[in-house]
Parts: sequence; structure tokens; C-alpha cells
Amino acid sequence: MSVQDQLHRFLFENVAVRGELVNASNTWQDIVKGHDYPAAVEKLMGELLTATSLLTATLKFEGDITVQLQGDGPLSLAVINGNNNQEMRGVARLREGAEIAEGATLKEMVGSGYLAITISPLKGERYQGVVGLEGETLAACLEDYFMRSEQLPTRLFIRTSEKGAAGILLQVLPAQEPNPDDFTHLATLTETIKSEELIELPATDVLWRLYHQEEASVFDPQPVIYKCTCSRERCGEVLSTLAQSEVDEIIEEDGHIDMHCDYCGTHYVYDAVDIAAIRNAANNQSDQLH
Ligand SMILES: [Zn+2]
Repeated sequence: MSVQDQLHRFLFENVAVRGELVNASNTWQDIVKGHDYPAAVEKLMGELLTATSLLTATLKFEGDITVQLQGDGPLSLAVINGNNNQEMRGVARLREGAEIAEGATLKEMVGSGYLAITISPLKGERYQGVVGLEGETLAACLEDYFMRSEQLPTRLFIRTSEKGAAGILLQVLPAQEPNPDDFTHLATLTETIKSEELIELPATDVLWRLYHQEEASVFDPQPVIYKCTCSRERCGEVLSTLAQSEVDEIIEEDGHIDMHCDYCGTHYVYDAVDIAAIRNAANNQSDQLH
């Protein structure tokens, strides 16, 4: 596919509802490439990516969102992380020897588990919301999350196919209550989009087909890309949170400590001198705080 992945925001003129439409097809391929995930897990990662992109686009500040599924099923973890620049990354983990059938449902994969959404502003407190997997689909679980955590009626329409992954989010504007019938009408209308239309047509065509009678203004799109935001420095910060004695022991035995990024697999190697520098920097930082 040659078209770049993009996220479009739009706003209805006469109803207090906003929307987003994302196509993340290439980013999805970049995230699952080389992992050899079972087909059902690949599909779930496409859904999770689409959802995370839509959620990240609701951020009003610089920061990132992690959407994570965790449970006791054959799929122990599926996580996507994305930031306000729509730089997305993600990884899934299967239990050893686990087998996942092609048409496996969310529950069959995750088992008894939960959906955790962690919002990390660049400046300010981290916030985490958790919901049980009561919905049949990821979209239903997220709609549940929005109702519980933000009391904002929200609908998500997420579609994947062998051609790609795309989705639409509709959300009532905070502090403005539209007529519930108007919101239901927009949701019913959005539901009519066919998977292949949503995934394969240009966003402007999709929006016109759905909402040409509703008067929606569409804003400039934002590119969506696969990018791991890990760095030697960030990995070093994680290292400084580990017990010193443990780190020292590894250094003594191996001469170095090897950290790797869970998302992209990049290895960062630190020797005794590096560790001393990291500890120095951490100490300076805590001095400044006091
Ligand atoms: Zn990485």
C-alpha cells in the first residue's frame, strides 16, 4: 500500500459530537512483521492499534497512551503504545506452547483478564484506568471504559481485513450534552460503513459517504507511523530503578548488563562506567527535587 497512514479529526456542526477516523494499515504491518503471531493475534493487534491511535488522538497534551490486554488465557499480553505524534509501537506475548485458533474471540485469547489504559502526560501525573473484559469485542470494552472513567458516551467502530486496519471514534463533547437521539443517529449511520470501504477508500470519501447530510468539518490529517520511542537514555532510567545490589552482581559476573526494549527488541549494553554515570545522574536529579 502506498498511501500513508493518517488520522482525521472531524466535528459536527449541529450536534455536540466529535469524531476521528484513522487508517493504520501500514503501521499495523510494521508492528506485526517478523513476529509470526497467530492470525487471530495479528487481527487483535490491528484492532488494538486502531483503538490506541483513536484514543491517543483525544489527548489534549503531549504524552502517550498504553492500551494493554492481560489475562490468564493463551495470549498473556497484548499491548500498544502511542503518543500525541501518532508514533505507535506494540507487542504481544503468548504463553509457552499456547495455540490460538484462527477465529478465536477476544475472550478465548485473553481468558479471564482486563483492559488497562495508562495515560502518561509528558508533564504531570500518570493515570491508569482498568476495566474487566465484559464486552465481546475490544471496541465494546473501550466504550465501557469511557462510560466508567470519563462518563463520556463514546462509540468505536474498528475494522480489520487482509487489506488493513481502520476505525472511527465518535464522542460526545465534554460539558455539552447533545440529544441522545442525535448521538444514536450518528452511531447508527456510522455502523453502515462496510469494512472494505472504511479500510480501502480515502478518508474524505468515507466521511462524505457517511456524513454529507450531517455537516461535519474535517481538519487537516495527522500521519500515523510505526516508531519505537526507546533510547539508551530511557532504558538507563529503567536500570536505575532496579536494586543496586542486583545490578552490581550482574556487572561483577558478566562485566556488563544487557537491557532490551520489549517493543522493538533493541539491546542496550551498559558496563560499570555507564552504570556509575546513570546513578550519578539519578542522584543529581533527586537532589534537584529537594
Ligand atoms: Zn524500542
